[in-house]
Amino acid sequence: MSTTSTQIDDLVAAAVAAGDEWAGYDPAGRARVLHGVADALDAVGDTLVPIAQRETNLPEGRLRGELKRTTFQLRLLADVAAAGEHLDVRVDHADADWPMGAPRPDLRRTCVPLGPVVVWGASNFPFAFSVAGGDTASALAAGCPVIYKAHRGHPDLSDATAAIVVDALAAAGAPAGLFSVIHTQDEGRAALTHPAVKAGAFTGGIPGGRALFDLAQSRPEPIPFYGELGSVNPVFVTAAAAAARGQEIVDGFVASFTMGQGQFCTKPGLFLVPAGSGLAAKLGAAVLPEGHRLLNPGIADGHHESREELAARDDVSVLAGGGGEVDPPSATLLATAAADLLAHFEEIFVECFGPTAVVVEYDDEAQLLDVARALDGQLTATLAAQDDDAIVGPLANILARKAGRLLWNQWPTGVSVTYAQQHGGPYPASTASGTTSVGTAALTRFVRPVAWQGFPQQLLPGELRDDQTVPAPRRIDGVLQAGPGQ
Ligand code: NAP
Repeated sequence: MSTTSTQIDDLVAAAVAAGDEWAGYDPAGRARVLHGVADALDAVGDTLVPIAQRETNLPEGRLRGELKRTTFQLRLLADVAAAGEHLDVRVDHADADWPMGAPRPDLRRTCVPLGPVVVWGASNFPFAFSVAGGDTASALAAGCPVIYKAHRGHPDLSDATAAIVVDALAAAGAPAGLFSVIHTQDEGRAALTHPAVKAGAFTGGIPGGRALFDLAQSRPEPIPFYGELGSVNPVFVTAAAAAARGQEIVDGFVASFTMGQGQFCTKPGLFLVPAGSGLAAKLGAAVLPEGHRLLNPGIADGHHESREELAARDDVSVLAGGGGEVDPPSATLLATAAADLLAHFEEIFVECFGPTAVVVEYDDEAQLLDVARALDGQLTATLAAQDDDAIVGPLANILARKAGRLLWNQWPTGVSVTYAQQHGGPYPASTASGTTSVGTAALTRFVRPVAWQGFPQQLLPGELRDDQTVPAPRRIDGVLQAGPGQ
């Protein structure tokens, strides 16, 4: 299917009109509509999951779990948006004695929806980061219409899921045009550069995400572009942890880097272990699980190329697995030394999307600090350590400046949808390090603050009025207070 530029104009015009109405919904009404979408998707798992299996090669159990996560996420974001915390409401009453030196006016600040958002889904999460995934859910819950760019890896699933979403929105009385789907890269670029579009949200690889980020910034009116891109997700194993729990750590790492055939943006792709600890030998002897075919030929070729390029280096050897098959590939562990990694960081520290990871042996724990300092932005960084390890304080301090999520003796695969989740990080993990694409804080990406100065009560948004009519916690004259009934 292809959409002409006139059709893009029409889709955006419909989104603008729907967005005006949707932004004016009372928050509880918006939540009810999104619960209806979640219920409709839950009801058609038996239809959607087989299409997803056919298009992605992912196993049924994984896909059913992902659909459940997706509808849970829709309901959670809808409910949290209805509670209004993401509006960060502040009310300052006029104060003639304000110590700044001049009287304080009556100032009231809340947030309003941005307007139409273009969302790009990822190949590796055909439900949770796709049509009705986290970006769509948070944009809709925050009051924004969505134009969704389907991934070429699962076009039929995208259309089937979108049909359910559109029907459920209509059945709940939501405005027509609130949600629509486009398919080609050109259509995505045309939508992103349309003057009435106000944000982009993307999950995928660095090249595409960067190209679209640059496009969003090069518009006459630059707009926010929330790209969640790639990450290597290093794991730092201290000498004491290796001595105390070596086999347990090795087993956990193997399970994590091979989970889902390594097709997670949070796959631990670099594993730093002490030389002489025996961990590299344990990994060399590990039985790596056999996996299924990768998501699509492009991902399989990309994995093959980056694995072969790494394995061909003089300073890298094959520690376990390998074998050169393209699809399904055998899980592969490559090995190098910390000194070589530090000497050729940009060539060795690369995302190899698929079931391949690099084991790095270090001679001295000080090298862990050097590697941490050399990192670019990461989604996660993991410490496998003991509580009284001297190195972990300084190491964690450096890693907190580099990664969006730090893990202590746990594994980075699996990104729970919660209130405190942070899925993002400095570039290239994301293009907006102050935000998250998973968890309830994702809502704030799709609103912007507005202050009303000196307005009469009847013209204020409900959450700003003295007789507050829209629920939200509020900071009143500097003091945080729960909203009515909260
Ligand atoms: P991708 O190839 O980057 O594609 C994502 C979307 O962007 C697709 O709709 C694609 O269109 C479009 N696109 C790509 N390049 C474009 C360009 N130059 N101009 C316009 N549109 C473009 O993503 P992928 O296949 O899902 O790649 C997997 C990567 O995603 C991995 O590196 C993985 O780490 C990353 N990922 C990141 C996260 C995260 O949260 N950070 C989560 C999952 C995956 P077409 O489909 O039409 O080609």
